[in-house]
Amino acid sequence: MPDNKPLLVTSPLLPSLQDLSVCLSDIWKSKWVTNHGQYHNRLEETLGSYLKTDNCFVFNNGTIALLVALKLFDFKLNSEVITTPFTFAATAHSIAWNQLTPVFVDVKQDGTICPKSIEKAITDKTCAILGVHVYGTPCDVEAINKIAVKYDLVTIYDAAHAFGTEIDGVGIGCFGDITMFSFHATKLFNTIEGGCLTTPHTDLHKKIYLLRNFGISDEASVLEIGINGKMNEIQAAVGLLNLDLVAEEKKKRHTLREKYNHIFSAIKGVSVQQLPENVTYSEQYYPVFIDKEKAGFSRDQMYDQLKQKNIYTRKYFTPICTDFVPFKDYQIVTNHSNAVIDSLKSQVLCLPFHSDVTDVHLHIIRDSVTNMTYLLANK
Ligand SMILES: *Cc1c(COP(=O)(O)O)cnc(C)c1O
Repeated sequence: MPDNKPLLVTSPLLPSLQDLSVCLSDIWKSKWVTNHGQYHNRLEETLGSYLKTDNCFVFNNGTIALLVALKLFDFKLNSEVITTPFTFAATAHSIAWNQLTPVFVDVKQDGTICPKSIEKAITDKTCAILGVHVYGTPCDVEAINKIAVKYDLVTIYDAAHAFGTEIDGVGIGCFGDITMFSFHATKLFNTIEGGCLTTPHTDLHKKIYLLRNFGISDEASVLEIGINGKMNEIQAAVGLLNLDLVAEEKKKRHTLREKYNHIFSAIKGVSVQQLPENVTYSEQYYPVFIDKEKAGFSRDQMYDQLKQKNIYTRKYFTPICTDFVPFKDYQIVTNHSNAVIDSLKSQVLCLPFHSDVTDVHLHIIRDSVTNMTYLLANK
């Protein structure tokens, strides 16, 4: 039996304390602890090439980065931003904090925003589309781009789950007008708290830089209504060290994914994420989808069953944004007869997905789920 430590859905990737203390001594000696220090600058450079985006602006967290992304374009007050409710609350909050109106639309079976529903939701107030590469699965960037060009809309992507995702070898941060990544401790690559923006538009660089730092351009002038989005040197040092560990962790998660896939291939009614051939995957989450009719048990029953064994799964994303108090009166625009999101949100369960998951854990998960099938069949 494993020790009785609960197994959580994520576990932060952390550098060794020895390596970190070398960096800390260096930072202490320099007394340059934040404000575009050398660790900060090195992280930006390294990340730009890692993400294959040329440019990268790091932030103190992903939400502030997304707030800045939405602020960049001077959208008219109360303009509408078409987005998905199948995401973390920060996506919708960032729209609302910019005095813009989120318009929630349906998703595709893979959980990403549905282009047909986007087109249905467009009004003369629409200013932008904010898609989420949920679980690291890329949105239909081509279809979304066509819509954006046709209706002259800005395209913003929340790539909080998609660090390292590539489409045909192109970094996911190269699509759309601007992309946000989160480096929160729950994300594969983390700086404890942190995030970044990438954009193909070099003409936006100066404004991002200004908005991130109170709008200050020099000692005597402030040019924009900025915020404090700066990443400090300790965060950046953790990032630089973690970047060296990401490849190994990704490899382990890839193996874990294959083991999980093998387990669930033998269980009726539980389907796994289908990844397109041309996509390099971020290995951020491992969602499964439980079809209650076929499996004989529900997602919630599987959640409870594993919880009893000290295995903590998460129902990402249930509740969805429109289930939350601030957005409860918002409708979901859908192009389908039944909103895809309604079935998805009752089926999805994200399993523990990180290198602390052992074969013993996998056996417990397999046996618990198999037992549920058996018990229910013989009820
Ligand atoms: C984690 C996350 C965020 C927020 O990022 P922070 O760095 O925690 O502010 C935004 N969107 C999605 C989809 C996320 O998963």
